[in-house]
Amino acid sequence: MWQVPESPANEAARLEALAAFDIMDTPREKGFDRLAWLAKRIYAADVAFVSFMSAEHQWIKSVTSSAVGTSIGRQKSICQVMVATGEPLVVGDLRTDERFEGHPTIPQMTLRFYAGVPLRVEPDLVIGTLCIMRHQEGIEPGFDIEPLEALAAIAVDELELRRLNRELNQLSRVDGLTGLSNRRAFDEELVRAELRCRRTGEALSVMVVDIDHFKALNDGAGHGAGDKALRDIGVALGKASFRRDDTMARYGGDEFAAILVGSDAAGARLVADRLCLCVGTAAIEHPINGQVTLSVGIATHYAHDLDTNLLIEQADSALYAAKRGGRDRVVSYGPPEA
Ligand code: GH3
Ligand code: MG
Repeated sequence: MWQVPESPANEAARLEALAAFDIMDTPREKGFDRLAWLAKRIYAADVAFVSFMSAEHQWIKSVTSSAVGTSIGRQKSICQVMVATGEPLVVGDLRTDERFEGHPTIPQMTLRFYAGVPLRVEPDLVIGTLCIMRHQEGIEPGFDIEPLEALAAIAVDELELRRLNRELNQLSRVDGLTGLSNRRAFDEELVRAELRCRRTGEALSVMVVDIDHFKALNDGAGHGAGDKALRDIGVALGKASFRRDDTMARYGGDEFAAILVGSDAAGARLVADRLCLCVGTAAIEHPINGQVTLSVGIATHYAHDLDTNLLIEQADSALYAAKRGGRDRVVSYGPPEA
């Protein structure tokens, strides 16, 4: 008699592992398609699929035929049995097997033979399944589940590789000293910000920040003190903006840059003033100025005439105006302020 299986004892950890792979609802991928295709060929099956089981749904990442839909409610899923037991499942005839008697969808299905193995990740968590099905019922003599298990192990290796790649990609976007975005991430985010602002019509501001007489701090107090000042300014920059979509980056050396999406000139000015206030409050000692000060250049474009290369140039030119004007100040690009 069919009974919806209980979730496994490690369901919470299982869902967490599944989320860490960030695989649910992603587009089709050749790697998984090939595994499903191989499973179908090896077992002369009518259909093979790779699936992942969330709290509510079995989602089919890859399937060799449209006979199987892309999402099945977990309550109706046959594969959920493997999530519950952690064991492979082979059913000669779904229609007559008493474990599935009274199942809500099996009587309407033309596929009768089923064999599946769990996609298992450390430590013993079943996040999905690899399955084959045939119209013809019956388990042939010498049926061997091991090739299917080997393909499932390859699917899990593929998932692990993707996750590591994602982590590496994240790391390659972070500045090691300050923990802010690095130049590479800044450049990528600027492209995204440009697309967004063109789409929404929002303003886009860029703020470029350079520490005043940083060489003197390095030479006077030592490289270690210089590094600490860079880290402290990184923290202050993080505090100065409250919007999640903003990007705060170390642009290089003692220069920082921020992308302020949806901030007009006045909004960007507020962020710059907050930043200078934060750095002032941190009172980082400096051999010439008493304490560390910043020069800040801001430029703002509006969606109708947005040009990010020009935006950076203008922010840079405002920064140099701040330096020329005596440092320790914020200058916005454009006509002199009244
Ligand atoms: P200005 O007011 O004109 O900006 O003068 P400045 O002395 O700050 O001149 P500049 O911006 O050209 O100096 C940048 C210095 O930053 C030079 C370099 O020694 C130092 N620097 C670059 N990267 C690092 C780093 O990772 N750690 C430390 N401690 N210093 C760095
Ligand atoms: Mg400097």
